[in-house]
Amino acid sequence: MKHTVIKDVLASRDFGQTFTVAGWVRTRRDSKGGFSFVELNDGSCFDNLQIVAPQELPNYEAEILKLYPGCSLTATGKLVESPAAGQAVELHADSITLFGACDPLKYPLSKGRISFERLREVAHLRPRTNTFGCVSRIRNCLAMATHKFFQSRGFYYFNAPIFTASDCEGAGEMFQVTTMDLNNMPKDPETGKVDFKQDFFGKPVNLTVSGQLEAETYACALGSVYTFGPTFRAEKSNTSRHLSEFWMIEPEIAFADLNDDADIAEDYLRALFNAVITECQDDLKFCDARIEKGLLERLTRLATAKFARITYDEAIEILSKNADAFEFKPYWGADLQSEHERYLAEKVFNGPVIVMNYPKEIKAFYMRANDDGKTVAAMDVLLPEVGEIIGGSQREERLDLLEGRIRELGMDPANYWWYLDLRRFGSVPHAGFGLGFERMVRFCTGMGNIRDVIPYPRAPREIEF
Ligand code: ATP
Ligand code: MN
Repeated sequence: MKHTVIKDVLASRDFGQTFTVAGWVRTRRDSKGGFSFVELNDGSCFDNLQIVAPQELPNYEAEILKLYPGCSLTATGKLVESPAAGQAVELHADSITLFGACDPLKYPLSKGRISFERLREVAHLRPRTNTFGCVSRIRNCLAMATHKFFQSRGFYYFNAPIFTASDCEGAGEMFQVTTMDLNNMPKDPETGKVDFKQDFFGKPVNLTVSGQLEAETYACALGSVYTFGPTFRAEKSNTSRHLSEFWMIEPEIAFADLNDDADIAEDYLRALFNAVITECQDDLKFCDARIEKGLLERLTRLATAKFARITYDEAIEILSKNADAFEFKPYWGADLQSEHERYLAEKVFNGPVIVMNYPKEIKAFYMRANDDGKTVAAMDVLLPEVGEIIGGSQREERLDLLEGRIRELGMDPANYWWYLDLRRFGSVPHAGFGLGFERMVRFCTGMGNIRDVIPYPRAPREIEF
């Protein structure tokens, strides 16, 4: 159906030209002068288009006076310079055709302000609210900016598999996948354990927690690649920062060390902040006014910020001097808690911080051993307000060291034969990182809960839609 999106109509100054628009009613107001004002939104942008409907319309009594929030319609009319404040243009309708009525007594979004908790229960309708319209458009902008950034740097978009037989982090928290009858699992007569040879893939299979290991194989052929896909973690923790299904962006770069990795992470983050600032002004203004005061200023500051870089040793030293400020006392060997990360970014450096070279005990098996024998070439990027946004590392490219580490951790090198092959055949230094996409959307919208920046959140006991 030929129509113009409201975003383009609002930007037009072709007064007198006829436009056809289509969307959902936000409000209707009837004037004494014999016409109604209908605020129409079609999702193309934050603002509504004001449609002026005169009582001469044949369906004025029967339909226009029964337009309520949520009704869908198409309208054709002339673009007119608006005499009233609040909008530059309005549409004087020659005809309005109702698509679908919407009973105000039953429509869940009829009332004014509705809590985010309640909106989660009507997740299929919440994109029609101002807030979720903003979040959706900002999410889209960040996704496109991600592709633009990596494509402009010569990275190839790589699709990692979702089903996997390997556990990237080597640390539980995985969803198992099977087609076997859970009430009647075939058992191996000798061991008495479930016989996965009879399962669909012939072995235990999980949903992926990260596409990194597979991305490494393609980086070690194409040079630089990035994933952008869903990952799954069965974390029981019910926090405002964790989802069971979330999207991750994982660049992997051949012929790169930890400093190169950090450079790309910095450039990428600045590119994201710049993209939302330039492309989502209206949405950000709303978020700034209604969701988080100071959001625009914070993003603008970060778009040009220089990132501080410190070692884990230095971080522990700084934190130890202020141990009284923390619930968890910092000490060498312990992972940084959220309160430590925020303290570094907010109080000490007043901006983003990259912490490098963590103790090997608290990091994954594939991270490159440093010469000190105690630390690995890992980095976390910390932002004010949220703490960790990116985790990355230079990967261990030396076969003997990697195999040794896998054994040390009680894992079986045989399960990683193809990953180890990269180190057997033309091994190269390489590095990469992972950014949790929803954490970024949350940061750029000011939304308090990560469940409200993904269309259909998956979390413990949350899967209605
Ligand atoms: P955290 O300590 O916050 O649980 P992590 O150390 O488990 O994070 P990584 O394994 O390094 O995280 O994953 C890379 C990135 O993915 C993180 O920096 C974060 O942005 C994001 N992330 C991790 N787990 C989740 C989750 N459950 N939901 C949403 N994003 C996540
Ligand atoms: Mn985690």
